[in-house]
Amino acid sequence: MKNNECKYPGCKKSAVTTYALVPICATHYSDIYNETLNYYKKKATSNNTKYWDREHYHKISHLTPLANKEEMQ
Ligand SMILES: [Zn+2]
Repeated sequence: MKNNECKYPGCKKSAVTTYALVPICATHYSDIYNETLNYYKKKATSNNTKYWDREHYHKISHLTPLANKEEMQ
């Protein structure tokens, strides 16, 4: 696995940033960022948010050392 590659499954773009310490490209950063905003917005108003509400994030969440913390919430 190349160090500088987006870690989103199937993505071969160069990583330009990281999300939760996982290298990702700009497109997937934007996807996950927006998804996370929506997730916390929903979470604030409802108890029904499930783990699959963060589909993009969970594609990379197993790669981040922060994953366990997130899942414990
Ligand atoms: Zn990507």
